[in-house]
Amino acid sequence: MQNFVKKEKRNCCGCGLCVKLCPVKAIEMVEDEEGIQYPEINEQKCIKCGKCKRICIFRKGNEETLNIRYAVKHKDEKVIMSSRSGGVFTALCDYILSKNGIIYGCALDEKFNAVHIKIDKKSELNKINKSKYIQSSIYQILDNVKENLMANKKVLFSGTPCQIAAVSEYIPSKLHNNLFLIEIVCHGVPGNKVFQDYIKYIEKKEKSKVEKVEFRNKKVFGWHNSGESFFTDSKWIHTEDYMTVYNSNMILRESCYNCCFKDKHTQKSDITIGDLWGVEKSAPQFNDNKGTSLVIINSQKGKDIFEEIKKDIRYCQIEEKLSIQDALITPTKRPKLKNIFWLLYKINEILTIKATVIYVKISYRIARLRGK
Ligand SMILES: Cc1cc2nc3c(=O)[nH]c(=O)nc-3n(C[C@H](O)[C@H](O)[C@H](O)COP(=O)(O)OP(=O)(O)OC[C@H]3O[C@@H](n4cnc5c(N)ncnc54)[C@H](O)[C@@H]3O)c2cc1C
Ligand code: SF4
Ligand code: SF4
Ligand code: SF4
Repeated sequence: MQNFVKKEKRNCCGCGLCVKLCPVKAIEMVEDEEGIQYPEINEQKCIKCGKCKRICIFRKGNEETLNIRYAVKHKDEKVIMSSRSGGVFTALCDYILSKNGIIYGCALDEKFNAVHIKIDKKSELNKINKSKYIQSSIYQILDNVKENLMANKKVLFSGTPCQIAAVSEYIPSKLHNNLFLIEIVCHGVPGNKVFQDYIKYIEKKEKSKVEKVEFRNKKVFGWHNSGESFFTDSKWIHTEDYMTVYNSNMILRESCYNCCFKDKHTQKSDITIGDLWGVEKSAPQFNDNKGTSLVIINSQKGKDIFEEIKKDIRYCQIEEKLSIQDALITPTKRPKLKNIFWLLYKINEILTIKATVIYVKISYRIARLRGK
């Protein structure tokens, strides 16, 4: 048995399902030099059963989806401002919590690693609200999800499409009735290395520990623009370097340039949520630069839960052609300069980040001059 995952980075999204399902626990996740986790097989332990290859979720599916699309805004403006898009995620969570259910979503831990956590109280929802532009790990909590479902609880699991495919595969179909799978539209995820290095840079510059972090605070940057905020020495500092490097696509996982979850027929979720880019055409009444959610209903279960949240949201049905964005239909392009980025990064992290920011700004100006 070849160590297939190690050889084919482009074909592994890091969901960890093979780690969970290997019968002799021969696989572990190991971080590479970009801070991205890949499974590695211990050839001494491996009994060559082939299960890891058979169950791997990184493949195209052929699901039939309902594909009903809405523009959505939460009725509560405070919820919109504390969410990345239009706050539909909070409305979905509130419904599940009102039924004594359990939510799984992505939070930042005390060291600013992205982790999936379980919450069962409204007061904890703010931990998983908003986008974190770092890959989180889910395989450690898959057994908790199963236990909750076996105890007859309703469970809402939210994450990237590849994470949702892993949860869907791991949970036996007889337990799916109470499982609500919510996927985000996904441009791609980086490992944690660049963000950790950038935090160290901020701490050195400010001579003070970073206590809190936020990505894309809408009150500071608006809905359309990107940036990151750090709470240190009793004040917030706002920068744009990290999000500019994220948007340059230099630091994404290799599988994100080869993502096989870009087609509506590959979706395993009940509902897909994202930013409704192009809102000025599809739902102009919602166009206020505060954020509007795109909601795509994929399954009957998704349709049913959407009915339940209608009292908390403003919504209107929209046409598919007015809600298309690249992240929904095609993998992000691997930048030609990515290898050079990482070569330079090994020499000087912060100079490489700063140089990338300048390069992005110049490229953007040239594109504007050319009218692109
Ligand atoms: C890395 C990343 C890339 C994205 N790319 C796009 C895009 O190209 N186009 C687009 O329309 N939308 C994209 N989104 C989705 C969008 O930013 C919002 O997350 C989504 O619209 C939900 O917003 P909300 O207002 O309903 O609720 P919010 O409260 O903002 O939703 C938070 C949700 O995001 C999940 N989440 C946050 N960070 C992560 C993470 N690192 N990994 C997995 N799940 C996470 C939480 O579990 C929760 O479900 C992306 C999100 C992330 C995290
Ligand atoms: S995609 Fe998931 S199951 Fe497939 S090799 Fe990678 S970690 Fe393992
Ligand atoms: S072939 Fe079987 S034993 Fe070997 S790593 Fe894969 S799942 Fe584990
Ligand atoms: S782009 Fe595709 S492979 Fe990358 S995190 Fe998103 S769903 Fe997974």
